[in-house]
Amino acid sequence: MLAKVREGNKAFKDMPALVKAKAKPKAIVPILPFKTSCRPNQYPESKVPFIDSHCHIDYLMVREQCFGTFASYVQSKEFPKNFSGCVSNFCDPPAWGPNSMYEDILEEDGVWGAFGLHPHNASRYNETIEEQLIKACSHPKCVAWGEMGLDYGNDHHNTKPDEIEAQKEAFISQIKQALRLDKPFVIHGRGAEQDAFEILKNTTPKQHRIHFHCYTGSWSVAQTMMRHFPNMYIGITGLVTYNTASNVREVARKCPLDRILVETDAPYMKPYGARNLDQESPKSANPGMGLFTADKIAEIRKLSLDAVLTQMRENVRGMYGI
Ligand SMILES: [Zn+2]
Ligand SMILES: [Zn+2]
Repeated sequence: MLAKVREGNKAFKDMPALVKAKAKPKAIVPILPFKTSCRPNQYPESKVPFIDSHCHIDYLMVREQCFGTFASYVQSKEFPKNFSGCVSNFCDPPAWGPNSMYEDILEEDGVWGAFGLHPHNASRYNETIEEQLIKACSHPKCVAWGEMGLDYGNDHHNTKPDEIEAQKEAFISQIKQALRLDKPFVIHGRGAEQDAFEILKNTTPKQHRIHFHCYTGSWSVAQTMMRHFPNMYIGITGLVTYNTASNVREVARKCPLDRILVETDAPYMKPYGARNLDQESPKSANPGMGLFTADKIAEIRKLSLDAVLTQMRENVRGMYGI
């Protein structure tokens, strides 16, 4: 693992920076493979297992210079006691190319993977990358293709037309492959929700399972997309814990609870309530910090944290089959 992390580290320097789901959830077997070491009152308390539906373990391990296993990382950091696992998205070429670390990461209990090229790297999409992605997706613990999609940033007008074209091309090519392999999608669509929806509508069967991750668009677009795709889930991150994220709060308030996935997008998006946790890495979120997001959703909707986490656990099952 050590050599691979170092190798990955080198490569990472180059990195730019309402219809009810049909599938009946199977009985949920709690998975608690992690030993954690948080102190009382560091996290909102619950015994309901929490699985982070979207994070980036490879970025996290590299950023934190962690050369051990993910389980040892969890134990060395402040994770909540009910942390039960995560879906790690591998979305940069070093993550699935030669000497990549995904096989070691996915060997661990409680860790599943998704593979896809992030729109920031869209211009790098080629046959080699496609072949590597197809191979990675054949891993028995790969539960989705992604994240893939479009990113126009905060200001649509700053994204150049040829960049938008490259993003659309890479997105459509990946959709074709993911459909061929029958993999659910993880979509990244920052500032490009409407365009991402148009592409999905024109390419993807309505019943396909889709996680529209880190959703920051309007409630009306979310609603239109969910009506069209009855198995689409909307990803809510730690952004919801900030007063300024009014769109995200509106979605968290209005979206049916059985269509929401709580996600951290760790190491990004540290929730407000976690700001004093893990002071060694003040800016990094860890995949256990989604509890603050679930707790904020519970507060906004006047529900108990247990009720929200129980539904989130079912939604992870509905989307990813885990
Ligand atoms: Zn993303
Ligand atoms: Zn992400």
